[in-house]
Amino acid sequence: MIYLDNAATVPMLPSVLKSMHEAEKKLYANASALHTPGHLARNKIEECRELLAKLINCSPDEIIFTSGASESNNTVIRTFEGHKIVASPMEHHSILEAAKIYRGDKLPILYSFMLANNEIGDLLSLPEKGEDFLHSDLTQVLGKIPIDVKALDLDYATFSAHKIGGPIGVGALYVRNGAPFKPLIIGGNQEKKRRGGTYNTIGIIGFLQALKNIVDNDTPSIYATKVLKLRNKLAERIIAEIPGSSLNTDLNNSLPNILNVSFEGAEGESIQLYLDAEGVIVSTGSACAAGDAKPSHVLMAKSGDAEVAHSSIRFSFGLDNDSEDIDYVMGVLPGIIRRLQGISTISRRDSF
Ligand code: PMP
Repeated sequence: MIYLDNAATVPMLPSVLKSMHEAEKKLYANASALHTPGHLARNKIEECRELLAKLINCSPDEIIFTSGASESNNTVIRTFEGHKIVASPMEHHSILEAAKIYRGDKLPILYSFMLANNEIGDLLSLPEKGEDFLHSDLTQVLGKIPIDVKALDLDYATFSAHKIGGPIGVGALYVRNGAPFKPLIIGGNQEKKRRGGTYNTIGIIGFLQALKNIVDNDTPSIYATKVLKLRNKLAERIIAEIPGSSLNTDLNNSLPNILNVSFEGAEGESIQLYLDAEGVIVSTGSACAAGDAKPSHVLMAKSGDAEVAHSSIRFSFGLDNDSEDIDYVMGVLPGIIRRLQGISTISRRDSF
């Protein structure tokens, strides 16, 4: 199998699995308990908090553990209930849907702008926040390019463990000291009363190991060299070898691991299924939007063309992909596209 759906989720790293498996046996106690096993579990949680803080340049007490990026995003939006919320049109649904419910007209404003988009990989510019507040969903950025929340002047930032080889169901929220905050999950003293619920110790230990992988291997430098080269090679070959293909990713201003392409006259979901049958795993825009018949809001925001959106595929690379994967994909993809263009009910524009 050639796995090119790393933006949806990265398979857990072997070192993460090992650390979690070992922790299951020893660090099972409730991390809020005052007894020794509780302290041992708590120490690991604090180690993770400190490492994440160091990686993104903040203080450990500015990190809150959550169940993932969706919860982190919901928490920030809910904090600004009744306020004016300005979000980029490319935000994840966990921002856009929450903003629909909670937005109002009070000041100050909350701006929510992701630094890099999950469907197309493009880097976005952050707005000038002035006296207002700025949140950035950095879910796809962590481990890919270096992050400094202070240099970016962020008040809030969102992270998720499963996009860096950690487990699904663990995430974090950076909240600048002094920034407004309202807990989403109440009823416990955990996280200094900022997020109730028994600590997900084993999950956080997996997150810690995935963060160590970023530090120990300097993953941003691997993405900037090896992965970028692979991504660009695939883009170049698709454009050269497949008629009717066009890139939705700005290769000069994007994350190094994401490539979104449209194939005129071929439907994204059909391409995905045919590639799957050949052992190549990709996604149609965003896995989060899969099963949704509406065109991707991100591609509509970028191209404004529903046909482009419906005919798109996202290839997202991980640290393990190599040039043989590209050769294999290019061995099967042109034939799939030809076949689909032949049977498509969407007429090819060059046939008009
Ligand atoms: N934000 C972005 C940018 C994402 O890519 C994702 C995952 N597709 C999420 C939020 C949601 O992440 P989680 O699964 O951790 O809730």
